[in-house]
Amino acid sequence: MPENFENSLSFAQQQDKNDPLRHFRNEFHIPVIDNQQVIYYTGNSLGLQPKRTRSYIEKEMKDWEMFGVEGHFNPKKENIWYHYHEYGKQALASVLGAKPIEVVPMNNLTVNLHLLMVSFYRPTKQRYKLIVEAGAFPSDQYVFETQLKWHANHWDQQLFDPEEALIELSPREGENTLRTEDILKAIEDNGDDLALVLLGGVQYYTGQLFDMQAITKTTHQVGALAGFDLAHAAGNIDLKLHDWDVDFATWCSYKYLNSGPGNVSGVFVNERFANKPDLIRFAGWWGHDEGERFKMEKGFKPMQGADGWQLSNGNIIATAAHLASLSIFEETNMEALRSKSKLLTGYLEFLIKEINKEEEIFEIITPQHHKERGCQLSLFTLKYGKDLFDQLVKRGVVGDWREPDVIRLAPVPLYNTFEEQFRFSEILRDSIKTLKA
Ligand SMILES: *Cc1c(COP(=O)(O)O)cnc(C)c1O
Repeated sequence: MPENFENSLSFAQQQDKNDPLRHFRNEFHIPVIDNQQVIYYTGNSLGLQPKRTRSYIEKEMKDWEMFGVEGHFNPKKENIWYHYHEYGKQALASVLGAKPIEVVPMNNLTVNLHLLMVSFYRPTKQRYKLIVEAGAFPSDQYVFETQLKWHANHWDQQLFDPEEALIELSPREGENTLRTEDILKAIEDNGDDLALVLLGGVQYYTGQLFDMQAITKTTHQVGALAGFDLAHAAGNIDLKLHDWDVDFATWCSYKYLNSGPGNVSGVFVNERFANKPDLIRFAGWWGHDEGERFKMEKGFKPMQGADGWQLSNGNIIATAAHLASLSIFEETNMEALRSKSKLLTGYLEFLIKEINKEEEIFEIITPQHHKERGCQLSLFTLKYGKDLFDQLVKRGVVGDWREPDVIRLAPVPLYNTFEEQFRFSEILRDSIKTLKA
């Protein structure tokens, strides 16, 4: 990485001038407070609204107005609703490093975690253990806890002890993030009993990017399956799910994928499982063989690939917003976004370290190396704590505060600029000054 960053406005502005992706910022609505555009650091929580989203939604509103139910099939309608879940496949496949048959948008993230565990967490007497991160996102923790209970308890019998089955990986004493070697060792140590490894792609709290390829490889070597929750990785990391041979994954579209609050999730199911109709799953009519869907007959025959996990017909209005956002990703690619992202996050890190030289205020708990992180930096505040965060908010910085004492900042390559990083560092200095006074 270029370590020739400079702590100056002119340097930041020059970086923006050199940025081949700079035109994308204009594709987004940047929130304004007190007549000033905020510095938006929460694309890891809710990505900004693309300007084109409104017209995508309005188009479906208009078609619904004009066609009514005919919107599902009428050839006069562009993008008939019947096939609506297919339109984003190519773009999603590029974002995730997958084949189109391996991905489909559907449901919401937590729902999909459950559905995928139904198929891919199949504990046996011998293999029943589940490896996860300690301190996973709460929703994921509730999924793990209740899936284990559901599998463990049958009639009046307890088949295994759910608490013993759950292996939660914690960083070493005094460390903030997991070492890959320790993850791999845990997989090997539990090899004979292990059913599934289910980790985040990027840890939501620390911003740590896991080595999904190595984890998957070791997991397969011991005879278990590997899945990932990509909530903080999709649209952030240049993923290669197919090449890494990941078994399954799910994500949400409202974080780095900018598709709007609570919008549709998606699933990846490895091509290896594409033609396994007997693979256990919870089914619905939209997963049923498309040619026969309207025969309304008994007997579930799944679609090939990820499509065979769909339950319901798609939420068209919401998916329109998803397609709008994906069309922006189609104008670039994850490699280009990642190279800017590394510079942008690297620059923010550099500026924070400059401030730390003056007075040690932060411990950056996110790994230093780009191989182990995406956009996000998590800053543990050694001083000033929440007061400092509140000062930043007052000055138009939208970040997020997590107990205890962590500020998460995620500069996003599609819409954040180098100049913003510089402005942020000036705001930080000013905030500290105020707190000292
Ligand atoms: C954002 C996030 C969720 C949110 O789940 P929803 O079902 O979309 O509400 C779940 N897990 C992780 C890891 C997340 O980052």
